[in-house]
Amino acid sequence: MQEQLTIALSKGRILEETLPLLAAAGIEPAEDPEASRRLVIPSNRDGVQLVIVRATDVPTYVEHGGADLGVAGKDVLLEYGGQGLYEPLDLGIARCRLMVAGRPGSEVLRRPRVATKFVNIARRHFAAQGRQAELIKLYGSMELAPLVGLADLIVDLVDTGNTLRANGLEPLEPIADISSRLVVNKAAMKMKYRRIRPLLEGLRDAVAAAA
Ligand code: AMP
Repeated sequence: MQEQLTIALSKGRILEETLPLLAAAGIEPAEDPEASRRLVIPSNRDGVQLVIVRATDVPTYVEHGGADLGVAGKDVLLEYGGQGLYEPLDLGIARCRLMVAGRPGSEVLRRPRVATKFVNIARRHFAAQGRQAELIKLYGSMELAPLVGLADLIVDLVDTGNTLRANGLEPLEPIADISSRLVVNKAAMKMKYRRIRPLLEGLRDAVAAAA
């Protein structure tokens, strides 16, 4: 029997931009994962299935072997931290930047209150600058926090900058360039290398062709 390969993906932009790369590598879901309520979706390839998880859960599934491979934003991987995953390929999709943002002039505050869902990244960023910051964990709509006096700064993903501008905020400091990465379970990379290698090569070719 074929050993099963499981690929963890999250709905939304990553799924939308990953499916054409997977298709170019010969893997197509048996049904549309965006429309389906199923969490395990077989593919056209024997022994290859997709699992649909929350974006922030992809590293957990892959590190602990709930999936052999996955696609996660670099923001999610930086926030997750640790050395528990291989990250062999930058897929070059869902590109944006992780930024400190706030009202003009807010960056000079001595001990800013910083609202973000990326508390680990923010903590490291301010610590590396030798700055004290009070971190406030939010789960969404970070842009609101400075408007209602909950925080002085936010750490958030910025693409066009339209969301910041619409709320009277501006990007102040870059933290990292973000794109989605292929991640691989360390044990699977050894035990299932015969099956993972062609997929990795197919994806690498698809990424090069899309560049
Ligand atoms: P924008 O207005 O184009 O700068 O987009 C900013 C909003 O979209 C913020 O709420 C971000 O959290 C979200 N966003 C932008 N790019 C990405 C991405 N690559 N992945 C996930 N969220 C994103």
